[in-house]
Amino acid sequence: MPGFELFGELEKQQVNDVLDNGVLMRYGFDGMRKGHWKAKELETELSKTFKTNHVQLVSSGTAAVSVALASAGVGAGDEVIMPTFTFVASFEAIMLLGAIPVLVDIDETLCLNPEAVKKAITPKTKAIMVVQMCGSMGSMDALQTIAENNDLLLVEDACQAIGGTFNGKPLGSIGHLGCFSFDFVKTITCGEGGAVITNNESYYTNADHYSDHGHDHEGSDRGAETHPFLGYNFRISELHAAVGLAQVKRLPEFLEIQRKYLKIFQEVVGALPEVTLRKVPEGGIESGAFFNFFLPDLESARKVIQGFKEGGIDACWNYYDNNWHYIRKWNHLKELKSLFPISEEVKTGLKYLENANFQESDHFIGRNISCLIKLSWTEDEVKERATKMAQIIKSVLN
Ligand SMILES: *Cc1c(COP(=O)(O)O)cnc(C)c1O
Repeated sequence: MPGFELFGELEKQQVNDVLDNGVLMRYGFDGMRKGHWKAKELETELSKTFKTNHVQLVSSGTAAVSVALASAGVGAGDEVIMPTFTFVASFEAIMLLGAIPVLVDIDETLCLNPEAVKKAITPKTKAIMVVQMCGSMGSMDALQTIAENNDLLLVEDACQAIGGTFNGKPLGSIGHLGCFSFDFVKTITCGEGGAVITNNESYYTNADHYSDHGHDHEGSDRGAETHPFLGYNFRISELHAAVGLAQVKRLPEFLEIQRKYLKIFQEVVGALPEVTLRKVPEGGIESGAFFNFFLPDLESARKVIQGFKEGGIDACWNYYDNNWHYIRKWNHLKELKSLFPISEEVKTGLKYLENANFQESDHFIGRNISCLIKLSWTEDEVKERATKMAQIIKSVLN
């Protein structure tokens, strides 16, 4: 991660196909487009990659989460359980629908703690959204069982874990719906873009219409399409899809690089007695987008991050004080700073945040260090980097 590090001729060729015919719109213009249907082709390609029947491309990962939830009928006043550690997009996408994000603790997988999920279920709960953070995954067996037993939707936000698998299944394909982002820093990038994947045909049809103004996409005359229900515009453009098409074909190559480097970091840094690796559920294989590890406590994590900075090791973070990815600094959510009025139902639904105690999450996020794995590094650079990281950890903690 990220895929832009390896942009090349493939991406240029795909984009030129689109520029040559001038059709930037993914629907219609059949005669002008000279056979180029980049978004449709990318959907077919992603359907193979994720071993899932239906794929709907959308304009971003955030849009993917909103569209996924909407396509399954989640809306005003419904509660969606999500983790304290994710990207702000998770609650944004839920609140866009007038639904209520219910934040619960994570565990040593850095994803949803199944026990915390169980405790958070109320009669208003409609969905559990597991966010597959930093290239790995939550305890999918337990989460699936909870969803089944309580008749809840299981949605996977796999934006940061493209290519990871659980029991041989691609992450994103395990829940009822899966969401991906292809924004500028993700493993596959196309500038801005995302995808919803599902094996449920009616969710797919809903997502297809909903993300394009509710147009039914029937018949060949686009102007004559009717609207079975209300929708919005969450479309992707042909230009973006073209870049994505070039990138997705390179995913196996990207994953091989990421996993090779992850192994080096795990062997070198993971060998230190002060270091514990992040827990990956049995049957899970990480995408290798990040290398994650735990130190004994928050203080040592802070010292190590400082040491990394001074030693020139970039792209490593401790998320405890990070305001993009962790609940502690999400004051705009806690104080409900909205540009426009928010419904009383959502306000009431979010009152729990005033006194919420996420000690369990603090415990794991406080001790965690997460390092981006770059595709552009050479193997020698990775080995050198890993050795340097291990030296810094040893010296600052002793
Ligand atoms: C990047 C990301 C998103 C949002 O994707 P965008 O395409 O940037 O809207 C959502 N969830 C997670 C976990 C992400 O990392």
